Amino acid sequence: MSEFCIESLTVTRINVPLIKPISMAFGAVSTAHILLVRIRDSDGVKGVGEATLLGGPHWNEESAESALAIIETYLAPAIKGVKFSGIEALSNRLVSLVRRNSLARSAVEKAAFDLIGRRLGVPISDLLGGRCRQEIPVAWTLSNGGAEREISDGEEAIEKRAHACFKLKFGHADPSDDIARASKIIDHFSGRARVIADVNQGWDEVTAARAFPALQEAGLLAIEQPLPAENLEGIARLRHGLGFDVIADEAATGPEATFKLAAALAASAVSLKPSRDGGLLATKRTAAIADAAGMKLYGGGMIETSVGTAASAHVYATVPKLTFGCELFGPLKLVEDIVQDSVKIKGGALKVPESPGLGVEIDEEKIARLVTGEPITRVYLAPFDQSENRV
Ligand SMILES: [Mg+2]
Repeated sequence: MSEFCIESLTVTRINVPLIKPISMAFGAVSTAHILLVRIRDSDGVKGVGEATLLGGPHWNEESAESALAIIETYLAPAIKGVKFSGIEALSNRLVSLVRRNSLARSAVEKAAFDLIGRRLGVPISDLLGGRCRQEIPVAWTLSNGGAEREISDGEEAIEKRAHACFKLKFGHADPSDDIARASKIIDHFSGRARVIADVNQGWDEVTAARAFPALQEAGLLAIEQPLPAENLEGIARLRHGLGFDVIADEAATGPEATFKLAAALAASAVSLKPSRDGGLLATKRTAAIADAAGMKLYGGGMIETSVGTAASAHVYATVPKLTFGCELFGPLKLVEDIVQDSVKIKGGALKVPESPGLGVEIDEEKIARLVTGEPITRVYLAPFDQSENRV
């Protein structure tokens, strides 16, 4: 590549409401808080990256406000005007400047990947080693608080897009109610769709120990993050002899955390999330460590627009074994996407974009409509309202 530098970096703050709130163990999320990072190089080539803060500091340590401050105060000044010498070097520079704060760093790294892909005329997946698959199976979340409505939602999802895996959100109801609900849904979709349950750290070890035999009997495919992320020993104890997979999500915060999970035998599978792992390169390393340890992989999602969704799809397409497919249904959950043509999900799978860079083009008119002008959004979570119909 000829010599160039990144001349500008701007961050746009967007709040996109969800079509229906999603109930999780910590509360109901109704809005995706998005930071859109846009860079332009000295030749005029552009790149875009996304950080979506779903649930804000209730979910992990970052918020839209903190990520915005990290990008504008620490990351942007360090890369603007500096000769570009490769994405590994840029990613390493971001880590050396800012520890943790993965969402902030990953948004900048994604924008750099998009820009380099456009400069070279290749999709990001080519920059990450090339694709092992062109399409990725996509799960669909059922979380509206009752088996009957969720079965109805599931039937609609199968009819519309042929999903073959459903994810149930656990942890905001009594565990016995969650088990009964899961059993009905697993039974109803038997032979047509498998079921993963996500507890979002909502149980303690005793609750999980009581719940697991019934969930195994019901035919659950996997359970995601049943215990708080810190309790690796608890998961290791519970996993002994278990007949379904335990996926680490909140505990899997990148390569180092995944190495610890493997060493502690505290998961049989790992949920990848580039925004949480620290970027696309960090996700590649996370996947390699998990695979080397014999752990299965799941392509996690954070209800992102097609920008963040495409970035994740590119790296997931390059992972040799992606046993549980992905949950990159974000654009389908938002009232509006921010690109001209959203990523395609049909036949139960996401088609990985083929155009250079991310393979999606942002739509300035849509973005202008979604910029609220609110400098800070202090309320991330709505209280639970079981009478309300939820996704
Ligand atoms: Mg999860």
